[in-house]
Amino acid sequence: MSGLLENKKALISGASRGIGRAIADCFIAEGAEVWGLSTKEPDDISARIAAAGGKLHWLGVDLSKPDELENFIENAVRESGGFDALVNNAGITKDNLAFRMSLEDFRAVLDVNLSAAFIIARVTGRDMIRKRSGSIINMSSVVGLHGNGGQANYAASKAGLIGLTKSLARETAARNVRVNAIAPGFIATDMTAALPDAAKEKLLEQIPLKRMGEGADIAKAALFLASDLSAYITGQVLSVDGGMFM
Ligand code: NAD
Repeated sequence: MSGLLENKKALISGASRGIGRAIADCFIAEGAEVWGLSTKEPDDISARIAAAGGKLHWLGVDLSKPDELENFIENAVRESGGFDALVNNAGITKDNLAFRMSLEDFRAVLDVNLSAAFIIARVTGRDMIRKRSGSIINMSSVVGLHGNGGQANYAASKAGLIGLTKSLARETAARNVRVNAIAPGFIATDMTAALPDAAKEKLLEQIPLKRMGEGADIAKAALFLASDLSAYITGQVLSVDGGMFM
């Protein structure tokens, strides 16, 4: 049986764990060849590469250093022969009330969540434009749409990704390159595991579907946006949040 991403190559940042890992697994299951990217190789990388039957490759790079990123991604594009899909998924938080937040922590989150996404999209997008085909997916957040106390840096980065998505979509549509964003709600990963139980209970009360999301819930949305199923969709933000905001 052929998958939705047969003969496609995908670059996924932050693929070592959580949502990015779920997306990598889903894309491989649908036939894609995946280049995973994260700061350091996951401990179980050899087992994962073996299980993927040669369909997983790994790139170790620190996205907090945007200046070194352009060359690195140019090499990755050359080495892979170019990507059909890019998922800018890597992200970090450094939460604090805005009035106590250091400029350093503000910039650190912007660098990884937004500047790195811009650079990776620009380099991979150039090649997609040449080929007149490609799909770029930026991992935003419900927080980028609605804001969140204690997350001014994170919310600004995620709102910035939405502006980036729509601008890139306008610039690339004529060349058949689509750019969309996903806005996940409250998803069970390392990022949310650190929340106190009381905060989790409070969040759950706001979710009409009455459960936290799973990485796989986001992976299915990314699969839809990466595949030809969404061939007529660009410049959109798809909320995957159990109905949290409607
Ligand atoms: P996670 O913390 O479990 O994983 C983050 C990934 O990003 C890891 O693979 C990590 O290695 C990578 N990463 C972080 N900093 C990096 C750096 N400097 N260089 C290279 N790689 C780096 O996070 P997650 O919950 O899986 O979230 C994935 C994305 O989804 C993030 O952009 C996050 O903001 C977004 N998101 C998550 C939730 C949620 O509830 N978990 C909700 C909305 C949006």
